[in-house]
Amino acid sequence: MNQPQSWEARAEEYSLYGFTDMPSVHQRGTVVVTHGEGPYIVDVHGRRYLDANSGLWNMVAGFDHKGLIEAAKAQYDRFPGYHAFFGRMSDQTVMLSEKLVEVSPFAHGRVFYTNSGSEANDTMVKILWFLHGAEGKPQKRKILTRWNGYHGVTAVSASMTGKPYNSVFGLPLPGFLHLTCPHYWRFGEEGETEEQFVKRLAKELEDTIEREGADTIAGFFAEPVMGAGGVIPPAKGYFQAILPILKKHDIPMISDEVICGFGRTGNTWGCETYDYMPDAIISSKNLTAGLFPMGAVILGPELANRVQNAIEAIEEFPHGFTASGHPVGCAIALKAIDVVMNEGLAENVRNLAPRFEEGLQRLAQKPNIGEYRGIGFMWALEAVKDKATKTPFDGNLSVSERIANTCTDLGLICRPLGQSVVLCPPFILTEGQMDEMFDKLEKALDKVFAEVA
Ligand code: PLP
Repeated sequence: MNQPQSWEARAEEYSLYGFTDMPSVHQRGTVVVTHGEGPYIVDVHGRRYLDANSGLWNMVAGFDHKGLIEAAKAQYDRFPGYHAFFGRMSDQTVMLSEKLVEVSPFAHGRVFYTNSGSEANDTMVKILWFLHGAEGKPQKRKILTRWNGYHGVTAVSASMTGKPYNSVFGLPLPGFLHLTCPHYWRFGEEGETEEQFVKRLAKELEDTIEREGADTIAGFFAEPVMGAGGVIPPAKGYFQAILPILKKHDIPMISDEVICGFGRTGNTWGCETYDYMPDAIISSKNLTAGLFPMGAVILGPELANRVQNAIEAIEEFPHGFTASGHPVGCAIALKAIDVVMNEGLAENVRNLAPRFEEGLQRLAQKPNIGEYRGIGFMWALEAVKDKATKTPFDGNLSVSERIANTCTDLGLICRPLGQSVVLCPPFILTEGQMDEMFDKLEKALDKVFAEVA
């Protein structure tokens, strides 16, 4: 067989690309990566890029953390693979569940493992359907989420995701309802205060529950800060306004901490940062610092007890993945939790967050930046055509993609999301690397705005 010559051509010949703008790939080629050094990735041509995306938010300890690699190697030597079915599981699985409950905001809890964040959300939905059915409410099945929320790509988690692109799959499935995104700057109405905006969203939730009937709603899922929706922190007081409503109607609140969990917002959990207590937590990505595909559902005490009782009643919970609780994934997660929480990584996020914000504040003075927003090590700059009216650029100009592509040319990876550019670097970033990031980003902004403004 004739092999095309370049890595880029070979990638394009044989790969089906996901979440990729194909015209850009055809025009610019694929960045084929061979390895990483700290927060940098290196491509087949030896070019280095500061990855201010942490891979996909997940490589929080960088791309060559020796301690994590050693933990993986040691576990491969000891016991390289197992499952968690039929009353058997690895010692690492036992230890990780203990650890996750210990570091969770819950006094007690139970953990179920998956291979991804999408599967963890799917699993949580199945747990809720199972629970409500077992408690005599089989009609309690609808799921509430928000527009712009991202919860994954499986048929159920994509139905939870509030993005119009899922219509190409004929999704969402029936019974998945999306509420207003709590982004005050973009969705606050003329003359509406932030407090009034939050009240309006709380009323929308009340009205939705009233209309649909609380006994038809299985649960409400929310990211503390929306990540893939464009880094959208909640409007002030949002969770405090909606949680009592959910509680009053016996609708479990699930905090999807796939991005926010383990340090991204500066604390262990996003719900800690935004001061609310969910009924369960979804974790993935940072859980293994990106070194192993793994997700986890962590049930808080009340759900844990109710679900366990429901399982005892029928003697078995018919759900699980071959690699649920994989010993290597668990060993890596145990090490990753230790590295992030005890080796100064979360501390670095807390220490450098003010400097991060200062840098963005400065860039946001530019006439075509409408807003900067974020917390910890997750931030976005939103481009606008007109700052005063917040009018976006014509979508055909692909402004954020152009900024991100120019950054790539300069050796910086950042992510275009809508009209925003997202920065979510590894937690090991130094002050010097942060300066490099802002330097390159500013050059890219100036170049692109000169072209389109
Ligand atoms: N939930 C959130 C908040 C996410 O950001 C993501 C992925 O970006 C997911 C769920 C899905 O995780 P995965 O891509 O591992 O399926």
